[in-house]
Amino acid sequence: MPTKLSRRNFLKSLGLGATAAVMPSTFAAAARGEELATLLDLSKCVGCENCVYACKEVNQDKFPEPEKPFPTMYPSRVPVQDWSDKREVKDRLTPYNWLYIQTAYVDYGGQSWEIHVPRRCLHCQNPPCANLCPWGAARKQDNGIVRIDEAICLGGSKCNKVCPWHIPQRQTGVGLYLDLLPSLAGNGVMYKCDRCFDRIAEGKVPACIEACPFDVQTIGPRSEIVAEAHRLAEKMPGFIYGEHENGGTNTLYVSPVPFDRLNAAVQQGAGQPDLEPHPDMLSSETNLAKAMLIAPVAGLAAGALHAVRLVQNETKEDTDD
Ligand code: SF4
Ligand code: SF4
Ligand code: SF4
Repeated sequence: MPTKLSRRNFLKSLGLGATAAVMPSTFAAAARGEELATLLDLSKCVGCENCVYACKEVNQDKFPEPEKPFPTMYPSRVPVQDWSDKREVKDRLTPYNWLYIQTAYVDYGGQSWEIHVPRRCLHCQNPPCANLCPWGAARKQDNGIVRIDEAICLGGSKCNKVCPWHIPQRQTGVGLYLDLLPSLAGNGVMYKCDRCFDRIAEGKVPACIEACPFDVQTIGPRSEIVAEAHRLAEKMPGFIYGEHENGGTNTLYVSPVPFDRLNAAVQQGAGQPDLEPHPDMLSSETNLAKAMLIAPVAGLAAGALHAVRLVQNETKEDTDD
């Protein structure tokens, strides 16, 4: 299919147009402040990427428009991360691609499987990105959505480092740091799936759910989604990911192939997350201590150190005069 429109129209012409899967209690539960979760039935996903195109389309206005040339990065070892000329990339997460499809070819149970895994932020129940953001830019809403406020984010990338899947992606040359601290701290803004918080607030389902021709995703109150995941896994039979990973996420996958097999088969790297059984990042003292070390302290200490050096240089120049 040459374009996203012809692809979607093609599917609709086959009678496979969007019929979003929504549990009846979803929006009442969201209005009561209950956590919503999504369930992805991987046995249904064909990897058509309709959801990926829908995500890009609906979020056009949220994508960064950086100012160039970029100011000098601080600390100087921080690389410029500029995706503004690569907006069409869709084989990984970027600031312009909040959802992509991983594909795994696996022999399992006497069959050859081709499994497609839509990947994006899992919206953790106890999200380290939100709990450890030094500036309070990443937050979890009552309805379970974890968002990064682009008006507050300084792009220090701590959320990426403490996220077990390293989901948030940085764009340089945009955001508050340009006005506030261009030579002291900050490097841009971090971007990721915001689970279409504005659509949910209007009583609509996320765009990726609506666009799927095969009803791969279902959204609903987390307790109902977990029960449905178990029902589906028993019927398939299959395996669940997300119920307990990182202490529990608001994105559950059910797959006919075990997740350790999928994890071994999918391509991983920057912007291409794994499917490891991550323990709760914030549950153990060791993990929390590690997270704290790479979270606020690093950014604040680096900024403070740089400020001290600037003052020292100015003082030296005054003395020399
Ligand atoms: S998956 Fe990562 S970015 Fe998303 S809520 Fe969890 S910790 Fe935050
Ligand atoms: S929920 Fe919205 S922002 Fe998140 S992947 Fe789906 S379309 Fe994109
Ligand atoms: S989730 Fe649906 S829209 Fe997305 S790739 Fe799978 S089948 Fe296509």
